[in-house]
Amino acid sequence: MKCVWVCILLLVGARPGAIAAEAVVFEFSKQYEALTLQLNSEPQQVLAELLANPPSADTSDAQKAEYYAILSDTYYALTYPQKAIESARQGLAYINKQREPWLYHNLRLIEASALEMAGKPFEALNKVDAAIGWAQENEDEKTYLLGLYVRGSLFSSLNEYNAAAESYLEAYNQTTYYTGKTSKANIAGMIGVMYENRGDYALAIPYFAEAVAHARKNDESLNLSIVLYGLGSANFRVGNIEIGEAQILESADIAKSLGDTQGVGYALKLLAEISIEKQDYALAEQRLHEASEIFANSENKPIDFQIAKSLFVVALAQHDYQKALRYSRIAKANLDPNLMPTEAIQLTTLEGKLAAAQGDYQAAYAHSSRALTLSEKYHESRSAEQIHTVRAIYKVRASEQANQLLEHQNRLQRFALNAQEQRNMYLWSFIAVVLLVCCLLAVMVYRVKSQSRALVKLATTDDLTGLYNRRYIIEQLDRQVIAANRYGYDLCVAIIDLDFFKKINDSYGHAVGDQVLLEFSSVCSENLRRTDLLGRIGGEEFLVLLPHTTLQDGYNALDSLRCKVSQMSDVVGIEGLSISASVGLTFNAPNLDGMQLMANADIALYQAKSGGRDQVIIHPTSSTSAS
Ligand code: GH3
Ligand code: MG
Ligand code: MG
Repeated sequence: MKCVWVCILLLVGARPGAIAAEAVVFEFSKQYEALTLQLNSEPQQVLAELLANPPSADTSDAQKAEYYAILSDTYYALTYPQKAIESARQGLAYINKQREPWLYHNLRLIEASALEMAGKPFEALNKVDAAIGWAQENEDEKTYLLGLYVRGSLFSSLNEYNAAAESYLEAYNQTTYYTGKTSKANIAGMIGVMYENRGDYALAIPYFAEAVAHARKNDESLNLSIVLYGLGSANFRVGNIEIGEAQILESADIAKSLGDTQGVGYALKLLAEISIEKQDYALAEQRLHEASEIFANSENKPIDFQIAKSLFVVALAQHDYQKALRYSRIAKANLDPNLMPTEAIQLTTLEGKLAAAQGDYQAAYAHSSRALTLSEKYHESRSAEQIHTVRAIYKVRASEQANQLLEHQNRLQRFALNAQEQRNMYLWSFIAVVLLVCCLLAVMVYRVKSQSRALVKLATTDDLTGLYNRRYIIEQLDRQVIAANRYGYDLCVAIIDLDFFKKINDSYGHAVGDQVLLEFSSVCSENLRRTDLLGRIGGEEFLVLLPHTTLQDGYNALDSLRCKVSQMSDVVGIEGLSISASVGLTFNAPNLDGMQLMANADIALYQAKSGGRDQVIIHPTSSTSAS
């Protein structure tokens, strides 16, 4: 029975396509996670280490992809957007989307962040939506949170603050992570940046404060420097000038200790604005010069413009109009009015102020009215731009929804296919079980039949000779007598007894006696007809039934058998052994039953024995009944 269950289990277990697959990446390695954490405090070291140890030729594609993922993250942390994009794309080149969907979508998210930093948030939006969709479908919480986080920052840089808040706040409320990009504190920092960009400085403060507390507690220095900058800036904007300044100073110190010179530069620029607010123009000028030195080789025109503009403001406040004019020219040289429309308005307004301070009211009026025109143009283009943005986002959303619909349909089809496969599997399992049960039943029936055949054989035959036993041959005698009387056919009944058999046993042993008995039974079987019946009724006594046989034919057959028996000693092959048999023969008569016929045959046998043996004697009454 055990084998039946093994067979069923094998059948049920043998699902089509259940082939052992290679390991698929579903999370970054511990080494990756460790480097990500290290990025928060030692970004330069991480970069140096990565560049010194590029992946060797024998590393797997997934490992190579992981290397480029962390390299992209590092460039992102150090504000190298182009390099971050390139690294992410190098990583993606090693990934098979179908085989490694997790790795693929995570690298897509890394690429999206880099694209956002490079000022291409639109390009990134559908990559992020695809990753979020995949993560939702596969219940991958971490990728889902990262997707929300990146989407929030994309919308934030598209000035789509409602959509940004939606993504960020969902991530913020759902995350349970304590470290990494998707930790609550990190998301809080991003929410702070979003509110700050939106101009909601008061709303930004608690989120930045949470991020600062976390970064401080966990020694995440780079993060701390960034979020302190945000917190300081927000505090300064709402009027908490002293608190804000202290926080930005701390941010600058940390950036300096990390070698993040750009961070120091931004902090100095903001500190200069605070000094201007506090009318400490000397300090403002000093901070601006320091910042200017930092950005000297960065070819960052917007920053160069802002520094020059602030120096212009300082000179104006100090009534140093020559200096003011000089900085106004530097600022103008770094101004691209198309890309920096608000800055163009600010500068023109300042130029007007300078002209007025110098008493040139005509020029002051000209500048002011130009500033007004620029301002009107800007607001017009801004609303056009906003419409364009809304349209573009609508398009992305529409295609995203179409994709989702398609994905949904695919999923439904997959479900239907799986259900069908499962039904087929159950059907085949059921058929297999039914077949097995049928086989078992067949085996059982066969066994029962052969056992009953064996039982019948045991009950009807004699062990030694294989001939019918006494009980069965006497039963057959009674039947034959009844049938012969009913249908009126002839029936001879005879008893054969081997002569001096005891002597054979005594002289040659019991085994030879047995051999003679066996040989006798095969001689009988060979010389009698198939319709004749022969059974062993005693040790060396046999009953023979010859249906449809006249007395004469019966006599002839038995006498010829007797002759054959007398020649048996040659076959047995023992020197001096003499074998013979005596036969008592009788014929059926309507008034006699089986027992009486046997008695008659026995009488005839007795006569054969007493008459010298080795002969066939017919019972005296038989001739009468036969004729
Ligand atoms: P008779 O010519 O008068 O028939 O003499 P007999 O010796 O054949 O007859 P008796 O009845 O005196 O002896 C029969 C012997 O057959 C006695 C017994 O040991 C022997 N015998 C009976 N059954 C078996 C058997 O299965 N195997 C062998 N080897 N001997 C048997
Ligand atoms: Mg006998
Ligand atoms: Mg005998």
